[in-house]
Amino acid sequence: MTDEQPTRTGASKRPSPEGASPAMAQWFALKNENPEFLLFFRMGDFYELFFDDATAAASALDIALTARGSHGGEPIPMCGVPVGAAQAYLSRLIRRGFRVAVAEQTATPPSKMKGKGKVAAQKGPLPRAVVRLITPGTLTEDELLEPGRSNLLLALVAEPSRRGLPEWGAAWIDISTGQFETARCTDAELGHLLARLDPAEILAPPDRDLGEYDLRRTPGEPPSSPDTARARLAESFHVASLDAFGTFSDAETTAALMAVDYVKRSQAGAMPRLTPPMPQEDQDTLGLDPATRASLDLLRARDGGTEHTLFATVNRTSTAAGARMLASWIAAPLTNPARIAARQACWDWLRHDSVRAENLRTILRSAPDIDRALGRLSVGRGQPRDLGALRDGIAAAHLADTELARINGSEEKRPDLIERVLEDLQECAALHDELNDALADELPARLEDGGVIAAGYDEELDTHRTLRDDSRRIIASLQADYGERFGITSLKIRHHAQLGYVIEVPAAVGTRLRSREDLQFRQGTASLARFATEELSELDAEITAAAECAATRERQVFAALVARALDDDKLPALARAVALTDVIRSCASLAAGETWCRPVVDESEAFELVACRHPVVEAALGSGVRFAANSCSLSPEKRVMLLTGPNMAGKSTFLRQNALAVILAQAGLPVPATSAHLGTVDRLFSRVGAADDLARGRSTFMVEMTETAAILNQAGPRSLVVVDEIGRGTSTLDGLSIAWAVLEALHSNLRCRAIFATHFHELARLTESLPRLSLHTMAVRDWKGQVVFLHEVVSGSAKRSWGVHVAKLAGVPAPVVDRASRLLKELEREHTAGPQPLPLFDAAPSSQPAHNEPSGEVPIPDELREKLADIDPDDLSPREALAALYALKKIAT
Ligand code: ADP
Ligand code: MG
Repeated sequence: MTDEQPTRTGASKRPSPEGASPAMAQWFALKNENPEFLLFFRMGDFYELFFDDATAAASALDIALTARGSHGGEPIPMCGVPVGAAQAYLSRLIRRGFRVAVAEQTATPPSKMKGKGKVAAQKGPLPRAVVRLITPGTLTEDELLEPGRSNLLLALVAEPSRRGLPEWGAAWIDISTGQFETARCTDAELGHLLARLDPAEILAPPDRDLGEYDLRRTPGEPPSSPDTARARLAESFHVASLDAFGTFSDAETTAALMAVDYVKRSQAGAMPRLTPPMPQEDQDTLGLDPATRASLDLLRARDGGTEHTLFATVNRTSTAAGARMLASWIAAPLTNPARIAARQACWDWLRHDSVRAENLRTILRSAPDIDRALGRLSVGRGQPRDLGALRDGIAAAHLADTELARINGSEEKRPDLIERVLEDLQECAALHDELNDALADELPARLEDGGVIAAGYDEELDTHRTLRDDSRRIIASLQADYGERFGITSLKIRHHAQLGYVIEVPAAVGTRLRSREDLQFRQGTASLARFATEELSELDAEITAAAECAATRERQVFAALVARALDDDKLPALARAVALTDVIRSCASLAAGETWCRPVVDESEAFELVACRHPVVEAALGSGVRFAANSCSLSPEKRVMLLTGPNMAGKSTFLRQNALAVILAQAGLPVPATSAHLGTVDRLFSRVGAADDLARGRSTFMVEMTETAAILNQAGPRSLVVVDEIGRGTSTLDGLSIAWAVLEALHSNLRCRAIFATHFHELARLTESLPRLSLHTMAVRDWKGQVVFLHEVVSGSAKRSWGVHVAKLAGVPAPVVDRASRLLKELEREHTAGPQPLPLFDAAPSSQPAHNEPSGEVPIPDELREKLADIDPDDLSPREALAALYALKKIAT
């Protein structure tokens, strides 16, 4: 943490509460209970912050820091935000890493209690209590959440292992949707898990470094014993034993309880609706370490943006829940071919009926976010529109069900997963009907605004409302009566905040009425006079009483409906089915054209991509430029591909497109290729060279080597490794030697499938000693001394570097380019004439590769070059030209 944010967790050196005013004494007590939080202290229409909280918040929010009263002879620093605008301020504070405790008044101030006669004068401040802790990992409000992204709270507990480094138990909760999952992992795998989950807040022991996630850490409470944790969790989910949900390690169990307890505390004791904890088996998902995720721009690009990412390119979902599900598929691709095929079967089946798929899109587009509405309702923060969201969400699910049932996709029978979706989408009909009857068509934003429950649903509510409205009608009719009785046509009956219902007349006539016995003068201004009558006061009291009864009854009916909805255990499955339908539809639309295919994924060792593309680069190229598709084939006999070629030729793009194809295929999604056959990959490693990583400001050679070490230590025969420009961040000989050794290790020791891109074209000689190495290069053409990139992968190897050409292309001034090319010629001459400058090559056999594969550039024999130089086309007769052509052909063939 930097010096600029010294008080992110609230007041550090708090003044002592001695001698505080009663309200401030209350503040001290609440702050004492929540020392790590900024205390939002409710004062009337404001939340106010004091002492260090005020200083920190004022600077974070850029609002005025003032003072209120004094404490210990010093003014108390204070700032405040209006209650009505609190969401916006909270969201800024949360984004800057603060956590906030909200203290509300827990009784109504007397001034707001109308029509209750005299209230005993309140002594001392109103009672206040912290009703909610707002932390990055426990948000439910739509204003504070990104719709298409999960918001996870992660708890980590170390389980000491005999072999030194601890094993970890992890549990994560998305309180806004109720998702609750657990996993265990080794210390080395913890980074993978963090990168995969990208949690908003992490409860972790202070001694474990979380790297770039350290800023999201919240000190974790010491967990209780595993046995107590098992018992308490089982109790929370109403089962006799936690085993009902799967097998959990001790650390996993304590982490789960820690997460639940934290969530409960943040909701001031209310237990949100959570799915039962689901243990995730690690071997079921494709291993992707943090560096790989970062290099592939899966959900977030390296610049932190979301636009140029794999997710953004394949996302065609139309609901927030669908987007979250698609993101979770990409973040955790599968390894089990059967599960992958089950997903594929769904969209493959749907894509044959584009008309109905489009109808589905229309239905889903207006479907509200059931999960997040349920999340808010379950912590007692639900508003009328959340119930409305359930009503409309279920209705949309039923429509989707009908549409989906009508689809006759390909000839085959419906995929099993679709059958299940069809069943789940039909559920909750009774709840829907109930909500449909109960809720008004137009719902107010807040329950207090009234008019939530439709007329005719609840008899008692209707009675109160009728009483209230009848009295109002009587009052309305009184206006004409009074006008006549007092002979004043401009007389009005108005409701006044302090006075209740009053007669209002112009000041001039007001004086005339003052003497009347049946009118009580209440107030006069320069232009108006206000009077009350006994009749009006009585009606006023009746209206207030009836309105209060109606409001109370409405709250009761609302609460009953909420309870009913939370009780419906089919609703989460229905919401999931809606999200799944959306993802399937999104995939079907992606695969509707001919450019995305359904890959064959099995247990084999195949790696065959035909005419594959990099979806993100392709999308970024725009419509004017064609993306050159490239195939990739790694067979057991040629498991490792060495890709040479100059800078800018398309090596990195090719490398990553193959890695992305694996992710898409194993996530069960369409692949941007004509066809694809992949044997499942257990771990995928993708590294970009130091040179490409400069933007992240971590281009050090050390980082590159650490990442290389990670690959060499972890990759196995089922892994896919794509490495780019290894050994670039150091001197040429150093770098070449390292690249050489790594390539040998990948090929001969790890025996993984690998694509190795390098600008060291010298490495091509290794094919002689490495039988499973295939040589490929990026085709380039020399056109009038300019380098032209064809972006085509061809077999063979680059014969030269083209660095000088690229320099020219980039606009390096001509004299410098000329000088460089003369120097290069000089160096190359020395290199071939003198003794071998690279001792490494002494070991390598010096003969030419046996098979002379075609390469990207065709060498021109010197004799031909000379002959060509002698010819001046402008000087030749047609006959001489023909003769010259014959002569040239003779030399060339
Ligand atoms: P290298 O790694 O060889 O230096 P890159 O993969 O970074 O080259 O590609 C450089 C640029 O070339 C990319 O940003 C992209 O604009 C373009 N490019 C790469 N591959 C292709 C392709 N297959 N089709 C069209 N343009 C491509
Ligand atoms: Mg590159």
